[in-house]
Amino acid sequence: MSGAGFSGHDTGSSAPQMPPLVRPTHQTPRPGPTLRDEHNVTQPIPFERPLETRTTTTLEATPAEAETPLGPTGRPMPVFPEPTPLVEHGGARVISMCNQKGGVGKTTTTINLGASLAELGRRVLLVDFDPQGSLSVGLGLNPHEMDLTIYNLLMDRETTLDEVVVPSGIEGMDLLPSNIDLSAAEVQLVHEVAREQTLQRVLAPALEHYDIILIDCQPSLGLLTVNALTASDGVIVPLECEYFALRGVALLKTTIDKVRERLNPKLEIDGVLGTMFDGRTLHSREVMERLVSAWGDTVFHTVIRRTVKFSDATVAGEPITSYASSSTGADAYRQLAKEVLTRWPAEWACRPRTACSGRPPTPHPRRRCRSSASAASGPWPTTPSPPDRASPVAGCDTTRR
Ligand code: ADP
Ligand code: MG
Repeated sequence: MSGAGFSGHDTGSSAPQMPPLVRPTHQTPRPGPTLRDEHNVTQPIPFERPLETRTTTTLEATPAEAETPLGPTGRPMPVFPEPTPLVEHGGARVISMCNQKGGVGKTTTTINLGASLAELGRRVLLVDFDPQGSLSVGLGLNPHEMDLTIYNLLMDRETTLDEVVVPSGIEGMDLLPSNIDLSAAEVQLVHEVAREQTLQRVLAPALEHYDIILIDCQPSLGLLTVNALTASDGVIVPLECEYFALRGVALLKTTIDKVRERLNPKLEIDGVLGTMFDGRTLHSREVMERLVSAWGDTVFHTVIRRTVKFSDATVAGEPITSYASSSTGADAYRQLAKEVLTRWPAEWACRPRTACSGRPPTPHPRRRCRSSASAASGPWPTTPSPPDRASPVAGCDTTRR
C-alpha cells in the first residue's frame, strides 16, 4: 500500500475526484478486440494507453443522458430503487464471489455486501469456502476455536447445518465458518462420488430459510471453487482496478463456461465489480475503461474505492457498514446491494416466496467458535461478542409451504 497516490484517506463509491469522462461522437476503431465480442472476453484483455484525441472528442448525448452524471465506469450512473421489503423469506439465490487471484476483495465484498443486504431486510447466509478462513476471521471468529466448520458438513453426513451455522453478529446474517481443515477436503473429495456437487448437497436445506447465500471462494480454480460454482445461481467477480488483475479474467471466464456446460446450466455471471479503484490515478481509470470495453454492462456501475477503512474494519472483526457506518466505503456496498437486487432476473426479484417449512437451522451461539476468554489468546484483536440472538428464521411460518 505504498505510493503517493494512496495516503489512506477515505474515498467512496461516487466519483467526486473523477475528471469528467466524455463520450466520442464517432467511435474511432481501436486496435485489438472489438466491444463485447465473446471471443475477446476469453482472451487476455489488451491494454493500451488511450490516444490523447480520445479524451478530447466532443459529446453527443441524448438530453436525458446529458443530465445523468457519468459514474466511475464512464457510463451514466443510474439511481437504484429501494428494494421492496420482504414479508416472507426463503428460496435463496446462491452467489459465488469468485476470482482465482488473491487480494482482489472477494472476502471484503462477501462480508460487506452480505451486511448491506441484511440491512435491506434480506436473510443472508455467508459461506466461508476458503481454507484461509479470512471471512470467519473478518467477522471476529477465532479459527483455532472452531469445533465444527464447513469441512465437517462436506465430509461427514451426520453433521447438520444447524450444528455448524453461527451468528455473524449482524442482525439477519449468519455464517458457515471455515478454517485450515477445509484444505484437506480438496484432497478427500477427489475420491467421492459426485464430488463437484458436494457443497450443493450441503447447502440444499438452507435454501428455504435464507434469501441470499454468498460463498466466499478461495483464490484458485480447483475443486472447491468448482463446487461453489456448481452450487450457485450467479457469480460476482471482484476485480482490483489494476493491470495484472485483468490478465486472469479470461481463465476465470473459461472455468465458469465449463461449469455451466457440464455441471450447472443455470449459472450466470451476475456482475464484475471493480474494487480498490482510485479515480485520481490514470491507471485505475484506464483499467476500468478496458474492463467496460470487454465486459460491457456486466460491469457493475458501483465501484468500490480504495480506502484504509476496509482493513481497519477487518481488524475490528466487523463489516464496514457497522464499523464505519457513514463512511463512503459503507455507502458503496449499500449501493452495490441495491444494484445486485436490481440486476437479478425477474423470477428472483418478484418470485413468490415459499415460507419456511420444517425445522429451521438454529445458529449456535457465537461462543461455539469463540469464547471471549479464549478469543483473547487468539492472533487477532477481538471485539466483544454480540449478544446471542434467536434463530434467524424464528419468525418463519412453519405451517405453510
Ligand atoms: P481476497 O478475498 O480476494 O483475497 P480481501 O477481501 O481479503 O481479498 O482483500 C485483501 C486486502 O485488501 C484486505 O486486507 C482488505 O482489507 C483490503 N481491501 C479490500 N478491499 C479494499 C478497498 N476497497 N480498499 C482498500 N483495501 C481493501
Ligand atoms: Mg479471501
